[in-house]
Amino acid sequence: MRDDDDELDIFNPEDDESERAIDDPDNPRFPEEDVVRCKNRRLNAADFAGQNSCPRCGRKSEELIWINFRSPSWTWRELCGRAGPLSLCPDCSIQVQFILRVMS
Ligand SMILES: [Zn+2]
Repeated sequence: MRDDDDELDIFNPEDDESERAIDDPDNPRFPEEDVVRCKNRRLNAADFAGQNSCPRCGRKSEELIWINFRSPSWTWRELCGRAGPLSLCPDCSIQVQFILRVMS
């Protein structure tokens, strides 16, 4: 007798660790906590029309969330600071594109 009442979809058991992109200098991934810290620094997505669309769902660049990303202060002391616009896909929760503007 089977009683699979498994409709809870709150937690996603899939771990994306395995399909993490290899270090791509054009598309770096930042720690989630650093990105969250910048989430209130929203930029106007319309200014980024024609940039990369989401590689997973194909959402266009102007429909993504753009934030003014700035890495934490310790990274600037260590001379590995990065700052610039970063696009996030609201559907896939991934970092789509980072445009490097400032580098320490
Ligand atoms: Zn997406």
